[in-house]
Amino acid sequence: MKTVQILSFFGPPGSGKGTVAERCVRDLGFTMLSTGNVCRKHIQERTELGEELKSYIDAGQLVPDELITKMVLKWLEEIIKSKDKVILDGFPRTKRQAELFTDALQSDPMLADIEFSVVHFDVSDKEILKRIESRLVCDNKRCQAVYSATVDEVTEGDACKMCGTPLIRRSDDNLEVARERLGVFAKFKQDLLGYYQDFGHRVLVFVPTGGLPDDDFREFQKLLI
Ligand code: AMP
Repeated sequence: MKTVQILSFFGPPGSGKGTVAERCVRDLGFTMLSTGNVCRKHIQERTELGEELKSYIDAGQLVPDELITKMVLKWLEEIIKSKDKVILDGFPRTKRQAELFTDALQSDPMLADIEFSVVHFDVSDKEILKRIESRLVCDNKRCQAVYSATVDEVTEGDACKMCGTPLIRRSDDNLEVARERLGVFAKFKQDLLGYYQDFGHRVLVFVPTGGLPDDDFREFQKLLI
């Protein structure tokens, strides 16, 4: 049985997890699940679950641990039948999610041979607020490519370089909700990192500069060696 490598990207909103994850998919053969993207897809497709998710996301609050973990495990069980390098972008985000996830790794025979590591994207709140203000995303929910208005020199309504769909601002990318989300992140951060330390999980710390994506990605790759 092959070993599946799972990287969990953990960091505040706007810390560049999504951008690096996209590059890992494009250049390093990873498959990724962004829990935020899955939630937004449900909302856009107006599924029953989407109605429930919307209330949490619009308020900058986390979706309940059991619900989000179930979504991830369902996806993972399916994906590892054919892929062996996986990124979980934005999961686990709380100690409870990490506990539920590690329990599943230990008890689910389908998830038996997994090497799990965490990449902690370490960026200050001040820098995050600056980045969120300039973040634009592709409105095509199958694409959801991420841009920085300042670094990529794009503006709202410009065409996505990947699929041509107009770029928009995310509804939760306003300063009020961003501050709320940063508060939520800070509240769960120490508990989660403490859990990883106690459990002996590998945690790699990555400090993205937010500058040119190629430079950041080169630094990121050095971490994985
Ligand atoms: P993101 O795109 O990663 O910034 O996530 C956007 C929103 O999706 C978050 O503010 C939460 O409401 C929800 N979400 C994404 N991932 C998780 C998670 N692991 N646990 C709970 N809620 C999540």
